Amino acid sequence: MNDKIALVTGGSRGIGRGICLSLAERGATVIASARNQTALDDLVSEAQKRELPGKIEARSLNVADRDAIGPFVESVTEKYDRVDILVNNAGITRDGLAMSMDDDQFDDVLTTNLRAVFWLIRAVSRTMVRRRYGRIINIGSVSGIMGNPGQVNYAASKAGLIGMTKSLAKELGKRKITCNVVAPGFITTDMTAALSDDLMASVKNIIPLGRIGEVEEVAEVVAFLAGDAASYITGQVLVVDGGLHM
Ligand code: NAP
Repeated sequence: MNDKIALVTGGSRGIGRGICLSLAERGATVIASARNQTALDDLVSEAQKRELPGKIEARSLNVADRDAIGPFVESVTEKYDRVDILVNNAGITRDGLAMSMDDDQFDDVLTTNLRAVFWLIRAVSRTMVRRRYGRIINIGSVSGIMGNPGQVNYAASKAGLIGMTKSLAKELGKRKITCNVVAPGFITTDMTAALSDDLMASVKNIIPLGRIGEVEEVAEVVAFLAGDAASYITGQVLVVDGGLHM
């Protein structure tokens, strides 16, 4: 991936951080974005410490700020001329039962997890179409396939990503741009750290592989889809969940 420019949202922590490191391990130049600049700077130091062949550049972006997306993508393409790989990973949960969920709780999750993905794809795909090359990878969730109590907002956003991705795969395929979803199950990050020990123990019981997944196990699948080996895969949902959903 030595000549590839990758843009990863939510690169400051968890799965996104792992994706940035995986792509840089393969030689890509990675623009890691998130809101927390200090955490992004820490990621850049980590990449330098590991002497990775690629480079990570930190740029803060709040994906929920629609007006920031256009100037952000323009500043990246001004410097690098293009984005070859776009990984829409930034995501939030604001769980609660539907009957007591307020509008903000629903809208905030839909904005960060779904609308922002559309805004970024709209801005970035122009340069991909011009160059007749692109890899778009959206991070979904098994919640968007199976549903999950307490997550009508989150599950709706992640199910929406699947429809969006398949439509884009059909729109952009002739321009040699692939669009896929990676749908993790339960992965050890800050997001799952918020769940109770009892819930995590009961989840482990129903996962055929009997354990929670690690960030690297998702990141490697994203790197595969971003690479040349996946050139004939588009419109797919790749589930990385230890067999939870099948
Ligand atoms: P995490 O540890 O909570 O990290 C979330 C990342 O998203 C952080 O880098 C955060 O950075 C960023 N982010 C959140 N809101 C943002 C915003 N408005 N603008 C820019 N960046 C924002 O979560 P994770 O577990 O790594 O999750 C990553 C993705 O995987 C999400 O899409 C999530 O839905 C999905 N997923 C996770 C699991 C799991 O078990 N962990 C399972 C299925 C799917 P800042 O706070 O610095 O902005």
